[in-house]
Amino acid sequence: MKQLNFVIDNVTGLHARPAKVFVKIAKQFKSDIRVLHGSKKVNAKSLIAVLGLGVKHGGAIQVELDGVDEELAAEALQTAVSAGLGEGDHAPEPAAVRSAPSKPAAPAPVAVEALPKNGLRGVAAAPGLAIGPIFQLRQTAVTLSQEFAGVAVEQDRLETALAHGQEQLFALRQKVEAHAPDEAAIFDVHRELLADDDLLETVQQKIESQQNAGQAWQATIEEKAAQMAALDDPLLAARAADIRDVGNRILKLLAGDEAAGEVQWPDHPVVVIAHDLTPSDTATLDPQKVLGFATAVGGPTAHSAIIARALNLPAVVSVGEGLLEIADGTAVILNGSNGIIQVNPDDAAQKEAQSQLAAAKQQQQAAREQADAPAITLDNHRVEIAANIGGVADAQKANQSGAEGVGLLRTEFLFLDRATPPSEDEQFEVYRQIAEAMAGKPVIIRTLDIGGDKPLPYVKVPPEDNPFLGERGLRLCLARPELMREQLRAILRAASYGSLRIMFPMVADMSEWVAAKSMVDEIRAELNAPVVPVGIMIEIPAAALMTDLFAKEVDFFSIGTNDLTQYTLAMDRMHPTLASKSDGLHPAVLRLIDATVRGAHASGKWVGVCGALGADPQAAPILMGLGVDELSVSVPSIAMVKAQIRTLSQAEAQKLAAKALACATAREVRELVRV
Ligand code: PEP
Ligand code: MG
Repeated sequence: MKQLNFVIDNVTGLHARPAKVFVKIAKQFKSDIRVLHGSKKVNAKSLIAVLGLGVKHGGAIQVELDGVDEELAAEALQTAVSAGLGEGDHAPEPAAVRSAPSKPAAPAPVAVEALPKNGLRGVAAAPGLAIGPIFQLRQTAVTLSQEFAGVAVEQDRLETALAHGQEQLFALRQKVEAHAPDEAAIFDVHRELLADDDLLETVQQKIESQQNAGQAWQATIEEKAAQMAALDDPLLAARAADIRDVGNRILKLLAGDEAAGEVQWPDHPVVVIAHDLTPSDTATLDPQKVLGFATAVGGPTAHSAIIARALNLPAVVSVGEGLLEIADGTAVILNGSNGIIQVNPDDAAQKEAQSQLAAAKQQQQAAREQADAPAITLDNHRVEIAANIGGVADAQKANQSGAEGVGLLRTEFLFLDRATPPSEDEQFEVYRQIAEAMAGKPVIIRTLDIGGDKPLPYVKVPPEDNPFLGERGLRLCLARPELMREQLRAILRAASYGSLRIMFPMVADMSEWVAAKSMVDEIRAELNAPVVPVGIMIEIPAAALMTDLFAKEVDFFSIGTNDLTQYTLAMDRMHPTLASKSDGLHPAVLRLIDATVRGAHASGKWVGVCGALGADPQAAPILMGLGVDELSVSVPSIAMVKAQIRTLSQAEAQKLAAKALACATAREVRELVRV
């Protein structure tokens, strides 16, 4: 028996993502592992149980391990906890299960607008306007039988329902994946909840004490969800909604009235209102019938809100129970950007909203129609538009959405949430599929960019006070050449299936480049692989200032504005209060971008931008004016970025960029560009 004591440093405590990482690691060992917090002691292999501890930032936990592999388990948990369990020390709870490169951002906070006559105010959850009649989605109660058919029969019924539930969730995942590959991961969490040891043990005990499967399941789900909701924490309340959602799915299957719960939809498009919407409800809303939705409760970080954003469905949440008093058929204007719902708007308001909506739709439609065409300015300057992707599904979407290549493949997705690194063959297979999905278009594969802020149980990094300034990115990989060699071998083996390029992250120093590049050359010679262009990311100010020297060696540059901004302004990009001030349009960041472009172009090398700034409509003209050759953006942004570039002139953009470089603050820069 072994005991460990930890203090949880994650800013939001042991919430969904860190808890999931913790449980996932615990599950990889045979030993019995328990977590103690306050007066509670729970199974470390149950996500619900660990979440239910409600461990906050700074909370102390004790872990007891008992079994053959207790030493190994203790070491793995120790490493993961000290590395932040999937987050930086100051990372806020991410809205989705995994950091989502292509996730549309939550609407930016807007100034509080006056409430119009007959207006209701909620919290803006997904931007856009929806104009139409109300339709209230009512939860139909499931009728449970009271009959008890014996322990074995009830167990059997439960197992069948769980298996069926798993299949439904798998299908739902596939469906959502088509629109929102990253958001679809929520249904994996639901599948994991269905296999939760603790939950199943509680249900089992109830069945043994003569409750039928439906009663036992319903009571257990309610207990667990209520425990979570009672922790008085908005993030855990959102997880309680996930438990109820998945619980209800099984309940319907057990009650055999799945079909009875089907909604009779009107035959015209509607604005849906509901007390709350589960992620499954949201994901199955038919975009042909639903213009937008509002809920009485819920928050903008709930998975339903995230899915709404990914599906481009305007949404307002937390309007209050008054919302449900609006009769079906009542006309409303729902504004998902400012959180206001106007009930029975007069003719003038309706007309105004209709014309805004029509203009926005027309713009998006026109952009989509032209998505495959190049982005050429009015004065004939071409900017390449590529995609930032996180996996094979994203690559397929990118290729269909007008991407002229992949400007950044974040390979971390292959390495996170597992006990051992992916094998060379496994990596090769993924890189090959991505190269093929992009059908010969260039694909920039960034080598592993992990470090103190993203723990890998199989890469031991001693605890660091400042993980963002610690062993991460290229420096970490150079210190573990076996990891880097396997990845480079996989990339170079896949190189003949498409047009692959290799890019190193977090380069600070020429010696790092020399070491990494010679590794590529060595492996390429070993494999007799084709020559591939090799470039670096500019995301550390030191590298930006040395671009002229790097440009003599590297084939290309891509500016990671997310990190470049955080390191230039010394503001943690994930900081709960500073992140919104950490603006990539700060003139200091722009001066570094300017230095990079000048240094690169002097040696005839091209420069891309793959940080989030590339998709910011206010930044695009400035970046273009500074001479950036390529913008790599999330897949949903490709068409609109291309459309915007076509409205600009390079000569004007250059004048604008010169003015921006002379500004004193990011705010002044933003005032120069009204979009
Ligand atoms: C960046 O830092 O801008 C970047 C694109 O890399 P990541 O966001 O993955 O750190
Ligand atoms: Mg970066």
